[in-house]
Amino acid sequence: MNTTLATSPLNVADRCDRCGAQAYVRVMLANGGELLFCAHHGREHTPALNSAEATIQDESDRLHAQQARSTSSPPSPPS
Ligand SMILES: [Zn+2]
Repeated sequence: MNTTLATSPLNVADRCDRCGAQAYVRVMLANGGELLFCAHHGREHTPALNSAEATIQDESDRLHAQQARSTSSPPSPPS
């Protein structure tokens, strides 16, 4: 195991900067800043941040593992 990673896994104490929900996406900005987003806001903001040379740590996969409950509305079918 390589433990020299600068990042640590997100946990329940990490909260979305936008809504306060549990954070599953961490964004490390090129200037050293750090943003935390829930899965919802992560999807909303990471596309723009990706183009700003930010490093995205997306752990939203864990969200699906934890909350495999109901699917509110299915995604639109591929054309
Ligand atoms: Zn949020």
